[in-house]
Amino acid sequence: MPLHLSRHPLVAHKLSILRDKTTEPKKFRELVRELTWLLGYEAMADLRTRPEPIETPLEPMTAARMEPRVGLIPILRAGLGMVDAMLELLPTAEVWHIGLYRDERTLKPVEYYNKLPDAATVQVCLVLDPMLATGGSAAATIDILKAWGAARVKQVSLIAAPEGVATLAAAHHDVDVHVAALDSHLNERGYIVPGLGDAGDRQFGTFAGPASEPGHGPDDETAEVVRRLQRDLGTGAE
Ligand code: URA
Repeated sequence: MPLHLSRHPLVAHKLSILRDKTTEPKKFRELVRELTWLLGYEAMADLRTRPEPIETPLEPMTAARMEPRVGLIPILRAGLGMVDAMLELLPTAEVWHIGLYRDERTLKPVEYYNKLPDAATVQVCLVLDPMLATGGSAAATIDILKAWGAARVKQVSLIAAPEGVATLAAAHHDVDVHVAALDSHLNERGYIVPGLGDAGDRQFGTFAGPASEPGHGPDDETAEVVRRLQRDLGTGAE
C-alpha cells in the first residue's frame, strides 16, 4: 500500500506546534486546517484533468479542469476539522458522512449513520481523519465506500501509527495513505505516541478532566484491542 509521508518543512514546522500540549484549541484548529491544505494538495497531485477550451483576455487556449468528482468522508468527530480546508481546495467536492462506533462486545466498528445514495456519485473518495490509530474505523469506512462503488479511495491523516498503517495495508492495499508523520506506536489506551493527544478534544475544547487524558490508565477493552492488534501485526513498542 502506498504510504506518502510528507517531507515538506512547512508541514514539519506546523505539526510540531500542533503536537505541543500548550497549543490552545483556536490555534490547534487553524493548524489542522493549514496542514490539511498542504496534505490535500499533495494527495490530489495525481488526479486526472481534462482539456477545457477557454478564452483568456488575450486569446483562446486549451486549459485544464479537474476530471473526477471527489467525495470527502470525514471520520467523526475529529475528521470534521479537515473538511473546510479540503472544500477550500476543491469547492465542488461532495461531503458524505458515515458514522461508526465500536461495539463493546465484539469490538468491531458498527455503522450508525449512512445516507449514501444507492450508486456512487463520486469517483475519488478522500477519507479524512487527523489520527490513523488502530485503522479500524478507516478500514470499515473504506469497505463501505468500495461497496458503494467508489473507484479510488485515499486516506488523509496528520499522524499515523504503524498499527493503523498495517491494518489498512492488510485490508486495502490499493488505498494511498497521505500523512504528515508516522509515529512510534499506540499506547494501551489506543493513543498514538508521541502523537498529540485526543485530536477531537483538542479541536473542540472538550476536556473532561484527568480521566480523558492520554496519560490516564487504560480501560480494559481498549488495552485488549491494542494488544491483539499489535500481536497480529507484529507491531508495538519495544
Ligand atoms: N485518536 C486521537 O484523537 N488521538 C490518538 O492518539 C489516537 C486516536
